[in-house]
Amino acid sequence: MDCIFCKIVNKEIPSEIVYEDDKIVAFKDISPAAPTHILFIPKKHVDSVNFLNDEHIDLVGEIFLRIKEVAKELKIADEGYRIVNNCGDLGGQTVNHLHFHLIGGRQMQWPPG
Ligand code: 5GP
Ligand code: ZN
Repeated sequence: MDCIFCKIVNKEIPSEIVYEDDKIVAFKDISPAAPTHILFIPKKHVDSVNFLNDEHIDLVGEIFLRIKEVAKELKIADEGYRIVNNCGDLGGQTVNHLHFHLIGGRQMQWPPG
């Protein structure tokens, strides 16, 4: 499977990793939409939220806790930030490996585009 995020997990292509454990990797987005823009992904490939099942409940919960911790480490927790998941074509998903964006460091707008 030709998945760019699996290649990042396997260190086949470089990335700026900010967090890693046995199940999760977080790295800087190559095209940041804000001063802080980190992507959190499961190491095991899942296409999107549409493909989550009961076996992923703990994994997704852990990802959100790690997002919270990294936000604190990067000193954007108190001022606030946004967590984004794009699912499928109309959702704006461009990489078909489940990922959550942690975006911060500027005022966010609503509604999103
Ligand atoms: P999506 O649009 O699927 O929600 O988000 C995909 C994100 O992955 C985009 O923000 C894009 O900039 C980022 N991205 C795409 N390719 C790479 C890459 O090779 N390295 C990194 N670090 N980020 C990437
Ligand atoms: Zn993948």
